[in-house]
Amino acid sequence: MLRGNNGATTEQGPGHQAPSPGAASARAGTDPAGYLRPVNELQEPSDAPAFDTSVPPSGEGCADCDAVGGWWVHLRRCAACGHVGCCDSSPAQHASGHYAQSGHRVVQSFEPGEDWFWDYLEERLVEGPALAEPTSRPDAQPAPGPKGRVPVDWRSHVH
Ligand SMILES: [Zn+2]
Ligand SMILES: [Zn+2]
Repeated sequence: MLRGNNGATTEQGPGHQAPSPGAASARAGTDPAGYLRPVNELQEPSDAPAFDTSVPPSGEGCADCDAVGGWWVHLRRCAACGHVGCCDSSPAQHASGHYAQSGHRVVQSFEPGEDWFWDYLEERLVEGPALAEPTSRPDAQPAPGPKGRVPVDWRSHVH
């Protein structure tokens, strides 16, 4: 769900109740040793590591929307495999769908100027390493996007 008149540009998290990045930084300050822990205590263990800094993003837009001609509000990049998916405000919510399917629990915002990580498992912002470039979609690509596929009444389709 978008907040305010310009919610599309101020959304900070993939969930409806995402805390501010500032809050996460404060918490991270008490946990200087690691980016993310404990790992896999709350659900069936996944063999997949949460982060892989060597793998580039899958593309410039949501891989699943591109496959079916869909559109998105904001983009999230899987920190483990590079899959680029759309956020939970988007009609198809492919980023969280990717988590459900793969168990890859952390995404990083793929929006220009945003570098926060979201942990789907614990539903909170977390710290993360520098991922392989590029770390955001092209500036020229609009949000919502991509150009030419966003319906004029897109606001009535967002979550
Ligand atoms: Zn999508
Ligand atoms: Zn993944």
